[in-house]
Amino acid sequence: MFKKILVANRGEIAVRVMRACKEMGIKAVAVYSEVDRTALHVRIADEAYCVGPPPSSESYLQGDKIIDIAKDCGAEAIHPGYGFLAENPTFSRNVANAGLVFIGPSGGVIEHLGDKMSARKTMMNSGVPVVPGSEGGIEDEKQAVRLVNEIGLPVLIKAAAGGGGKGMRIVHAENEIKSAVRGAASEAQSAFGDGRVYIEKYLEQPRHIEIQILCDTHGNYLYFPERECSIQRRHQKVIEESPSPLVDPEMRRKMGEAAVAAAKASGYVNAGTVEFLVDKHKKFYFLEVNTRLQVEHPVTEMITGYDLVKEQIKIALGAELSIRQEDIVPKGNAIECRIYAEDPRNNFMPSVGKLISYEEPAGPGVRVDSGVYEGFTIPIFYDPMVSKLIAWGMDRQEAIDRMLRALSEYRIVGVETTIGFHKTVLQEANFRDGNISTHYIQEVLGDISVELEVTEDDMIAVASAVSYRRMKQDAQLTIGTAPSGSSGSAWKNSFRPARR
Ligand code: ADP
Repeated sequence: MFKKILVANRGEIAVRVMRACKEMGIKAVAVYSEVDRTALHVRIADEAYCVGPPPSSESYLQGDKIIDIAKDCGAEAIHPGYGFLAENPTFSRNVANAGLVFIGPSGGVIEHLGDKMSARKTMMNSGVPVVPGSEGGIEDEKQAVRLVNEIGLPVLIKAAAGGGGKGMRIVHAENEIKSAVRGAASEAQSAFGDGRVYIEKYLEQPRHIEIQILCDTHGNYLYFPERECSIQRRHQKVIEESPSPLVDPEMRRKMGEAAVAAAKASGYVNAGTVEFLVDKHKKFYFLEVNTRLQVEHPVTEMITGYDLVKEQIKIALGAELSIRQEDIVPKGNAIECRIYAEDPRNNFMPSVGKLISYEEPAGPGVRVDSGVYEGFTIPIFYDPMVSKLIAWGMDRQEAIDRMLRALSEYRIVGVETTIGFHKTVLQEANFRDGNISTHYIQEVLGDISVELEVTEDDMIAVASAVSYRRMKQDAQLTIGTAPSGSSGSAWKNSFRPARR
């Protein structure tokens, strides 16, 4: 087994990976930017090293610096989490070239699947159904018009290097083609340094359903029950669940086998996710492969009992998968809400700042993967996610009711959050009926106002935060201030307000 793993990430995912390391008896090493000196992932790590100034380009994206830190501290492997360097083929290669283990696929596989056009081609050749569209890239605008006429409107112009919903343009009419191609290409060029675009049929009211896979170095491939990720804002997932209310056992098996075929065709190793779009006739089409651990992996863990991070680590070590396909039996339903420090009243603008009061929900069937604590200041430099709240229930109804209970227990004072938004979705009739698509938020919630009234509980939370601040000020007057950088010290803990 590895003795020490460096986690090249921050926030909740760094904490999540470190927890798996600790349970496996592996020392966890954190890297952090100057603004994250007191972050939770630094607190729980066995060792932590500053990697640079706050902007991610100068810290969490400094692959070579991170590899040097890993070598210097004696780490044998690097876990990239998601985001930052997780899908960077050069980083994966450089880690391997430095004699370390990258916990994820090889640079070659990441590069091939990260190019949506080459991934599509591989899937077409291996019989995995892809969204109808162009075989290769668009050479010029004339060809684009010809292709759109062949495929039929509406279409989506997509960037080969796309990610995070960038470099996509919907085309509803022929006279929009040229500007859409130009717009998508220039957005892709500036975001990814690669302006190649291609065309896909734009599926109306699709669902986004994906399959988690695990593949070892011994030629074993596993698929897990699907995750339904149709609740999205600006093509970004906000609520995920497993299993999908749409999918029956036969469809589950077919999608799983298609995902394994996709993995085999690309020589995949480690954990990955094969994403599909599903149309109203329940036909599914390959969308892309995410070559990393997904944000939404906990819902799979909650209904199957497996720890996907531990499996990743064992695969990276060269171990053979000990799970058999028939061992993976889903039990109950799990839902995840991504809790963001964003203001739903202000077009979901980031609302970063200090968490004056912070209490996580708990109780039966509730899991909180967070990277924050009371008193922590959410920095402006990164994704403003506070946590992922996951609820499990014996059935979907219980999972939803538990999630609503957990959301109402969650106390966050100091920043605006998306908690009220999630409550609105979870109480809405179409969501409760499983009648959803990727257009759900725009079409169903468009005119529903998000529950944002101040409740009695919110007022109690504010009052307790104010009294906590007063206590702190009084303490500072009498015994002086705590030494800087010692936010985990007993001094502060002794002045925490009693939990309700
Ligand atoms: P990215 O890598 O930028 O996240 P994806 O290809 O994974 O892009 O697509 C993100 C989302 O965009 C999908 O979940 C879906 O909502 C929408 N989308 C992508 N392709 C299509 C398509 N052909 N038709 C309809 N919606 C699509």
